[in-house]
Amino acid sequence: MKILVAVKRVVDYNVKVRVKADNSGVDLANVKMSMNPFCEIAVEEAVRLKEKGIATEIVAVSVGPTAAQEQLRTALALGADRAILVECADELNSLAVAKLLKAVVDKEQPQLIITGKQAIDSDNNQTGQMLAALTGFAQGTFASKVEVAGDSVNVTREIDGGLQTVALKLPAIVTTDLRLNEPRYASLPNIMKAKKKPLDVVTPEALGVSTASTVKTLKVEAPAARSAGIKVKSVAELVEKLKNEAKVI
Ligand code: AMP
Repeated sequence: MKILVAVKRVVDYNVKVRVKADNSGVDLANVKMSMNPFCEIAVEEAVRLKEKGIATEIVAVSVGPTAAQEQLRTALALGADRAILVECADELNSLAVAKLLKAVVDKEQPQLIITGKQAIDSDNNQTGQMLAALTGFAQGTFASKVEVAGDSVNVTREIDGGLQTVALKLPAIVTTDLRLNEPRYASLPNIMKAKKKPLDVVTPEALGVSTASTVKTLKVEAPAARSAGIKVKSVAELVEKLKNEAKVI
């Protein structure tokens, strides 16, 4: 079985992002960039399926700038066999990304596609779902367990207050939740080996996909600063303040 894994380059989760002075977006100058954490989980799951002898080939794909090759090399170091960068300098909206991924799916014909449930920069939580709609494939979102059984895949999904298990007929799309697995670190020998693995670069034009945006970001704002808390000396004082100042009891 061939698995396609979608990998996004995002601001590292440890970075405290700054909003640009003109509120047009987030300042990316000199900011550490990494693989989206949910995509790391997606790569790990694909690698585990290959280690179990279920997957035969893992193809990592990213839509992004030239620098996204770094994240694809990381995916290769973690165990992907080859990579594809759909190169485009501009940040695209989810529908454009899903259309580009669909073009790659049409070419590669994977049986399983694994994406993160969410990119931590845009928090869209929709690319996997849009790709499922465009391809007509079954989707299992927010997966905390993935089991391939013959021509279907059983996905246990994290839903409000519990778990739901669905059987998807292959080809299918799975989006990863946090508890699916704990991604490994790339070893130095594997980082070296990854440099020699194939990484193809294609353009949206070559894939015949228009990336024209249907969504425009109007404004990006930092959360309002919280006022400092105070210490109270007794429970009585706390109750008095909650009653008369905060007026919540
Ligand atoms: P989102 O819908 O933007 O929150 O992203 C959900 C998932 O879709 C991510 O974890 C990736 O697996 C995939 N994805 C989103 N944008 C891209 C991109 N530019 N390149 C590759 N995969 C992406």
